[in-house]
Amino acid sequence: MRHPCIKRSISVLLLCIILLLSGCAPQKEVSCTRTVFAMDTIMTLTATGKRAEEALTLAEEELLRLDALMNRHVQTSAVARLNREGMLEDKELASLLLRAVALSDRTGGAFDCTLAPLIDAWDIANGGRVPSSEEISTALSLTGSDTRISIRGDEIALAPGTVLDLGAIGKGYAGERVRSIYEDRSVTGSIALGGDNCLVGAKSKDSPYWRVGLREPGSSDGIIGILRITDTFTVTSGSYERFFTAEDGTVYHHILDPKTGCPARSGLVSVTVLAKDGLSADALATALFVMGESGARAFLAKEPDISAILITESGKVLYSAALKDVFSPENEAYTYEVF
Ligand code: AMP
Ligand code: MG
Repeated sequence: MRHPCIKRSISVLLLCIILLLSGCAPQKEVSCTRTVFAMDTIMTLTATGKRAEEALTLAEEELLRLDALMNRHVQTSAVARLNREGMLEDKELASLLLRAVALSDRTGGAFDCTLAPLIDAWDIANGGRVPSSEEISTALSLTGSDTRISIRGDEIALAPGTVLDLGAIGKGYAGERVRSIYEDRSVTGSIALGGDNCLVGAKSKDSPYWRVGLREPGSSDGIIGILRITDTFTVTSGSYERFFTAEDGTVYHHILDPKTGCPARSGLVSVTVLAKDGLSADALATALFVMGESGARAFLAKEPDISAILITESGKVLYSAALKDVFSPENEAYTYEVF
C-alpha cells in the first residue's frame, strides 16, 4: 500500500500541473501603465492587480471602440450615421442619449448635445471664425435636446437638421466604461483621459487616497491645489483649453452658451466637477461653466452628491463645503473661498 503522504504529494503535484495547464495558476499582482491616443487626447492608464495587464488591453480596445462610436467626424461612427440618416437603432447610443437628454433637462439646457451646427459655425477646431448673427440664429433654430431627439427603446430619431456632438460627454462616458473593466477584474488604478480622470480603488496598501493636482488654468505646470480622493471622477472644463483670437483681439473659446449661441461669457475660466459617475461629471463641468458663478452655486445647492471647484476670471477659487477635507489650496496668486 502507498504511504498517505506520498499519495497526498502526488495529488498536490497533479493539481498544480492541471492548474498550470489550464492557465489558472495563481497570478502575481503587477502594476502597469499604458498610453492611448483617442478622442483627440492622450490618455494614460495605470493599473495594479493580478489581472492588470488584461484590464489595460481591454481598456485600450474599449477607448478606441468608443472613439469610433461617438466621433461625429468619422463617417462610419454610429453618431455620424445617426446625424446623416436622422434615425438609428443602437442600444448603447440610445441609453447614452437618454442620459444626455436627462442631463440637459437637469441643467436647464446649459449642457446640450445638439449644438453641432453652432460648433461648426464657430469652427474652433480649424482655427475659428466669428459667424454672422444670421448664421448663429439659423444654427440656434436647429438645436435643443428637449425637442429634437426622440428615443423609443433602442430607436433614436432626430428632427430634420439636427446634428449631435458628444464632445462634452465622450471622455466622461469612456471613463465609466474603463472603470467597470477595472472593477470587474479587481484592478485598482488611475484613468487619466486628457485633463480628466477617475481613480479606482485604493492608491496603495498604506493609503486609500490618491493625490491629484488641480491644474492652474492656462499653465503647463502650475497647480491650484491638491485633491485627496478615490473612486471619484474629476472633470474640468476651461475656456483656456481651446480658443482663438479674432482680428480685433477678442478671444473666443469652445464652450458655447446654448441660449446665445456664442462662447459663454460667464466670468469663469474653469470648472472642475467631482462626481460618482463620469457622464454627469463631464456634462456638469461644461454646464456649470455656462451657468457662471451664481448659476453654478444655485445648481450645486440642490445637488448634494456633486462637488465643484470654480475658478473666476478675477482669480477667485470657490469650492464646495464637501471638499473642505479633500481639497488643499496651494497657489498664493489666488484667493480661496468655500461655499
Ligand atoms: P468640455 O471640454 O467637456 O467642456 O466639452 C466642450 C466641447 O463640447 C466643445 O468643444 C464642443 O464640442 C461641445 N460643447 C460646447 N459647448 C457645449 C454645451 N454647452 N453643451 C454641450 N456640448 C458643448
Ligand atoms: Mg464636459
